[in-house]
Amino acid sequence: MADTESCALHLPALEDIAAVLEGGLKKNYAEVQVKVVDCPDLTQEPFGFPVKGLCGKPRIADVGGVPYLVPTAQLDKIYNMNSVAKKIELPGAYILGAGASSSKSVGMNAEVIEVKAQKRTGKDNFVTCMRKSLKEHYGDKAVGMGGTFVIQEGKAKLHVMPREFSACPLNTDEDVDHWLNFYEMRAPLICQSVFVSQDPGFDLRVEHTHCFSHHGEGGHYHTDTTPDTVQYVGYFHPAEYLYRIDRPPATHMIGRD
Ligand code: ZN
Repeated sequence: MADTESCALHLPALEDIAAVLEGGLKKNYAEVQVKVVDCPDLTQEPFGFPVKGLCGKPRIADVGGVPYLVPTAQLDKIYNMNSVAKKIELPGAYILGAGASSSKSVGMNAEVIEVKAQKRTGKDNFVTCMRKSLKEHYGDKAVGMGGTFVIQEGKAKLHVMPREFSACPLNTDEDVDHWLNFYEMRAPLICQSVFVSQDPGFDLRVEHTHCFSHHGEGGHYHTDTTPDTVQYVGYFHPAEYLYRIDRPPATHMIGRD
């Protein structure tokens, strides 16, 4: 399929990744615990996902991209999840992740890495901090992770796209921020996240997280706004392959946060 590129990701041992994440998170959070555990049943509250664990053949798909939305929305860019599943060579795959201008998928394993972090002391949000720790340790070897986390305490800054696409072209990050609606939303927020430590030349969005809740709040995660009280617990698994589907021919870095 001409519009799909792929590569194998670096796949370190789970214990190895857990140690790297713990070291990195400790620079940014006061209390951190990372260990390899059996995945909890994700069909239970608060997750309520349609499948139990993170298992099978974990793959990451980055579909489309912000350049199809910014500066002006290309309304013909609509993706069918069934055809995305075929393109990642896993027809019928269970897909989770952050969808909209780009959608990400992660197939899923009985062990996943459990990550707990409390009380943010540095600038980086939960996902950025994990991504940078992997980058620092593994360098040019790209490690990709997908999974879910819950913001158990505190509040977070999220954005939601307005119902209407922007009538004027969005030419800068400021234009994009002005067009988006930002909210401070309260825990518990259930988030689905994907991140890749290093872009292997695919013009990726290197991290993307969307949150939902059972109290009607949700959106695209930027960071928590309550560093002193915030509590995160998450379950992640490394992906074996990365697929890039329908990469925009002309690109820019606006609106990637
Ligand atoms: Zn998003």
